[in-house]
Amino acid sequence: MQLTDDFVLAGFTAGSGIWTRNEPDDPPSRDYVQLSRTLGVPLTMTVRPYQANASRVAIVGAEHGGMGVLRDNVLTKTDGLVTAERGLMLSIIAADCVPIYLADREAGVIGLLHCGRQAAAGELIHNGIACMAELGAVPARLSLALGPHICPDCYEVGAEVREEFAQSFDAQELERIFRVRNGGLYLDMAAAIRVKAEREGIAPENMRSAAECTCHGSGYYSYRRGDRGLQNLAYMMMH
Ligand SMILES: [Zn+2]
Repeated sequence: MQLTDDFVLAGFTAGSGIWTRNEPDDPPSRDYVQLSRTLGVPLTMTVRPYQANASRVAIVGAEHGGMGVLRDNVLTKTDGLVTAERGLMLSIIAADCVPIYLADREAGVIGLLHCGRQAAAGELIHNGIACMAELGAVPARLSLALGPHICPDCYEVGAEVREEFAQSFDAQELERIFRVRNGGLYLDMAAAIRVKAEREGIAPENMRSAAECTCHGSGYYSYRRGDRGLQNLAYMMMH
C-alpha cells in the first residue's frame, strides 16, 4: 500500500528488526541511522515513544525531536503521537499490532498510533483523534490508513478476548470483529478499529487497510510467528 503522497512521507519497514536501544544513552540503532539516510530525514527530527500497549497519546513538536532515538524520552507508556509540525518524523514499532496513520491535510495535522489488542478495545483511537482535534483537525475530514498487521486468518484468540471486547462493543459489532472457523475464534483487528473510528466520526470511505499480513506474509517480523525482540517500524511525517 502506498502511504506517501504530496502531503506526507510515510511507510512501514522491517530493517534488521532492531529499532530499540537498551540504555537511554546508547547510540541510535543502525536501522534508524539507515532509514534516516534513505529518507533524508535527520534523527534529530525523529521521535519514538516508549510503548506500553496502552491508550495514551501525546502531542509532540520539534522540541521532542530525537527522543527515543538519539536521547532519552519523556514519552513513556505512550502508544500514539500527534503533531502539527512539518518535518517531524513520528515513528512507532510494531510486530503484528496495527499501525494507524491519521491525517487531516486541511488542518495540517497527522497522527500515528500503535494499536494492540487491548488498545483496540480501549481508548487509543478516541484519544488519538481528540489530540488531533486539539490541534484543529476535524474527524469528518480525517483519513485513516492501517499498515501491515496480523490478519484475521492468523489471529486465533481465546474466548476471554471476546468477553473483554463485549465491554466495548455491542453484539452486532462483535459479529463484525470476530469469526468462528473450525471451532476456533479469530479476531479481525482492522474491523475493530473501523468500528471505533466510525464512532469518532471518520467516514468509512476515508478508511483503507493494507492487504499485507505480518504473520503469514514474508518480509516483516511477526510476534505470533515467533520473532522475539524483532520489530517493524511505522513512520509518518508531513513534508
Ligand atoms: Zn495472516
